[in-house]
Amino acid sequence: MGIHTAEAIVLRRYPFRETSVTLTCLTDRFGKLKGLVKGLRAQPTRHRSAMEPMTVNRIVFYDTRASQLHLISQCDLLEPLSGLQGDLEVMRLAALCVDLVDTVVPLEEPQPALYALLKQTLAHLALGGTDRAATRLHFIIRLLRLAGFHPQLDECTGCGRRVRAGASWSARQGGLLCPRCLHEDPKADPATPGLLGALDTLAEAEGPPPLEPSVIPALTQRLDDFLRWRLDRPLKTLTI
Ligand SMILES: [Zn+2]
Repeated sequence: MGIHTAEAIVLRRYPFRETSVTLTCLTDRFGKLKGLVKGLRAQPTRHRSAMEPMTVNRIVFYDTRASQLHLISQCDLLEPLSGLQGDLEVMRLAALCVDLVDTVVPLEEPQPALYALLKQTLAHLALGGTDRAATRLHFIIRLLRLAGFHPQLDECTGCGRRVRAGASWSARQGGLLCPRCLHEDPKADPATPGLLGALDTLAEAEGPPPLEPSVIPALTQRLDDFLRWRLDRPLKTLTI
């Protein structure tokens, strides 16, 4: 049994028995964890955080190794990110980010870059970042890449040949199709050089990059279709 300290963003929080809560959080050093905070609802002042979703906290937890539900003995609120609450559209976007992390990230695999991405994106939104469409696209692309879940964008998903010119985007196939393999998904949409270039830019950028406004709707639609095909469960927060 070990005792650890970590920075943690709360993804989900559920009541547990009369007075306690269980939660799922993404931590800076230990990846995604499930935790139990005893007595949090009975004595909220005993802990210095209510562990609300989408807040940044410092937690102390016991790793029992016998269970994936760890006992969180101490929690301190570091950043409430209260700016997320003021605007419905921002709130929905933040909820999508948290939902996606909860869905695609496995438990107990350290993901420091992914933690940094989520924290940076939520902080950017809380500060009132106006580039919401680019923020949304950037978060999704970077998350998929860091989680090893990204669309195949260099080779045709049908025949494996390198493809860029004349490529189509198939959500069902999980990436590009060359003209010869288009029969695999006749409903595939065109993947223009502008769209593929924007995907490259998003994948490389540390923060939301400036994007050509004309590519944003097509890119958003193609990525959302990709997620609908790839995710095990439908996400309510994905509907826009
Ligand atoms: Zn092909």
